[in-house]
Amino acid sequence: MKNLDIKFEDIPVKKLSYKPIEKKILSLIEQLKAASDYKTGLKVINAFERYMSKFSTNVTVISIRYSLNTTDEKIAKYQDIVDEMSPLIGNLINMWNKVLLKVPFRAELEKKFTPYYFTMIENSLKSFDEKIIPELIEINKLSSTYDKILGSAQIEYKGKIYNIPQMGKFAKSKDRNERRDAAIKVDEFFQAHEQEIGDIYGKLVLLRDQAAKKLGFKDFVELGYLSLGRVDYNAEMVTKYRKQIAEEVVPVAQKLCKAQAKRIGIPFKKMYSYDYNLMFLSGNPEPIGDAKYLVDSATKMYHEMSKESGEFFDFMKEHHLLDLEARPGKQPGGYMTFLDDYKFPFIFSNFNGTEGDVSTLTHEVGHAFQGYLSRNIKPADFRHATLETSEIHSMSMEFFAWPWMKLFFGKEADKYCYGHLVDSIQFLPYGITIDEFQHWVYTHPRATHEERCAAYQEIERRYTPHKVYPDEMKVAKHGGWWMRQSHIFGVPFYYIDYTLAQVCAFQFLVEMDKNQPKAWKKYLKLCKCGGRYPYCQTLAKNHLRNPFEEGNVAKVIRPLKKILNRFDESKF
Ligand SMILES: [Zn+2]
Repeated sequence: MKNLDIKFEDIPVKKLSYKPIEKKILSLIEQLKAASDYKTGLKVINAFERYMSKFSTNVTVISIRYSLNTTDEKIAKYQDIVDEMSPLIGNLINMWNKVLLKVPFRAELEKKFTPYYFTMIENSLKSFDEKIIPELIEINKLSSTYDKILGSAQIEYKGKIYNIPQMGKFAKSKDRNERRDAAIKVDEFFQAHEQEIGDIYGKLVLLRDQAAKKLGFKDFVELGYLSLGRVDYNAEMVTKYRKQIAEEVVPVAQKLCKAQAKRIGIPFKKMYSYDYNLMFLSGNPEPIGDAKYLVDSATKMYHEMSKESGEFFDFMKEHHLLDLEARPGKQPGGYMTFLDDYKFPFIFSNFNGTEGDVSTLTHEVGHAFQGYLSRNIKPADFRHATLETSEIHSMSMEFFAWPWMKLFFGKEADKYCYGHLVDSIQFLPYGITIDEFQHWVYTHPRATHEERCAAYQEIERRYTPHKVYPDEMKVAKHGGWWMRQSHIFGVPFYYIDYTLAQVCAFQFLVEMDKNQPKAWKKYLKLCKCGGRYPYCQTLAKNHLRNPFEEGNVAKVIRPLKKILNRFDESKF
């Protein structure tokens, strides 16, 4: 057991080398092959788990350090080594899994670990084979290059240098010229890198397509789904689900866009994409304090919310597991990750003084809280759910934080909640745009960059027809907005997950509105469930409506209109 008083910065960063890791795993594989009874086998499996926990902790420490400072050359090298070896490690795990599936005591293991444990293993065997290692190595390198390009963005604006997340503050400015200029500045960055980023994506698509074909798939779509651990739904169900969103949510979102235009005093027909960043003429609500103030307020909130959440948040602070402010050199975005050996969640974000800081904080805390509640689940594979389930934990937490928004926004608390809900509804059409685009891309792997942009534009116009770009935003205007959506590069098909989770988080919002303690209890149960079940089963076990079932999207969306109507827009 590790020293539990340790702080994040005390965790050693180790340069990994492949050979000793390979030797250790191969020896464990031999031991598993030799195990003839359940008891001996379980001992080997536990030893393997312990070793993999140590390995994954080392890898995660490197990736956190790298994201905190992409200009640190030593860590960048360590990260390169990890990127290069990760497919090889994947292969070793594959070898382990093949042996595990054939052990003579499988029935006893299934009883202990549940059949889903083996479904996951079978699934990962289908989605990986030694012969695709060269493609995977190349894919890792290309996605790191993409991250590096975006992370190193140095945008000059009003005599100062900003990275992309830092530009967010200007993009949401009350001053229309500032909004416009900021949007153009960011687009100019993509203009300067369009060819490079377009090439990277083209190569990624071909490599993924090639890997899928080597494994016997028609194209990358099915492989992409399997790689995300989607065992109880498929692309066809997702297509029908997108249709439900298109029919039920797109009209509501359009109405909200029109109301927004009216609110901010710009005729709907004259609204530009950057205007939608401004929810209110009086300006978007801003947090009433700096990062330290936000953390203090969060401490108060989580203590008042429940015993569990209070203990958890103290834990995060005690061990320095929050790195929240934007700095040059830091990777954009926000994430939560987990250090297995220490059972530490870690939260990374880029605070820039906008209301997004509060939603990022509450969002990532939702992930971290779930990780904390599930930290002792065994086997460790069940601690974390697949992505569309994990996002329910985070997005629901954003809503559970509503009653405390006064702490963060003072008089503007209601304005924040209203904006948050509108934003969450407006997000769904964008979410399905990104998803449909990727399905198009991987079923047309040989398309050119221009053809991809044209496809994106066509989909974008269908689901978000209000998005009109000024001529100066050359990249966005010709259908290149997707280039800034990092998920498309790093984790294909991971995006619809946010929409699937949002539909579930809305259910928590409606329930907490009726009966907060009951909704919170249900949420705790869901978090503690971790990744024991695949998505649809998790929903069924926790009495949540499944978005794939025809009619369920409508049932979830309708009660939101009532909540929306309760806010007095004229006050904002
Ligand atoms: Zn998330």
